[in-house]
Amino acid sequence: MSRMFVISGPSGAGKSSLCSELLRRCSQLKLAISCTTRPPRLGEKDGREYHFFDMETFKSLQDAGEFLEWAKVHGHFYGTRRSDVQAVLEQGGDVLLEIDWQGAAQVASEMSDIVRIFILPPSIEALRQRLVERGQDDMAVIERRIAAAAAEMEHASEAHYQVVNDDFDQALQKLVLLF
Ligand code: 5GP
Repeated sequence: MSRMFVISGPSGAGKSSLCSELLRRCSQLKLAISCTTRPPRLGEKDGREYHFFDMETFKSLQDAGEFLEWAKVHGHFYGTRRSDVQAVLEQGGDVLLEIDWQGAAQVASEMSDIVRIFILPPSIEALRQRLVERGQDDMAVIERRIAAAAAEMEHASEAHYQVVNDDFDQALQKLVLLF
């Protein structure tokens, strides 16, 4: 039986790095690639990190009911296409979704037996430092993301498991046990 895992948590909490490592270690686990209207960051490739769509295309997918869930995050739209999840399930794999809390709640309302995991940074200050060090966003964007992170973290308790990413290897060890 295929299983579905949903990982949420604020930007900069280390979700993406933890998910990459999980995907490397758990061969049955496959990421359902999200769609977004956010422009690609340097080094991001269409179809690898995200399916990058313009607003019009995203809207038409929304209208056609193609999304299992979608949400507006940091001023851009993000969503998981049902077909991308289905493709993984048909191969008999477990599905990993890396999505925000709003999306996680939508998936939970539609599908039973999902496992929701929330990755927390050790503190807001540690989060600010990580976002600065990542060097992908300017300061205004970072401050906006910090405010959003505090709001996102209020939903940590909605997940079945909370993992604090203080030490990467320890957090990874805790996560691996859940898969
Ligand atoms: P980023 O732009 O930094 O890649 O992602 C910003 C936020 O959007 C992250 O919190 C990420 O989890 C969330 N996100 C990414 N893909 C999806 C998606 O398909 N649906 C939802 N609801 N959120 C997503």
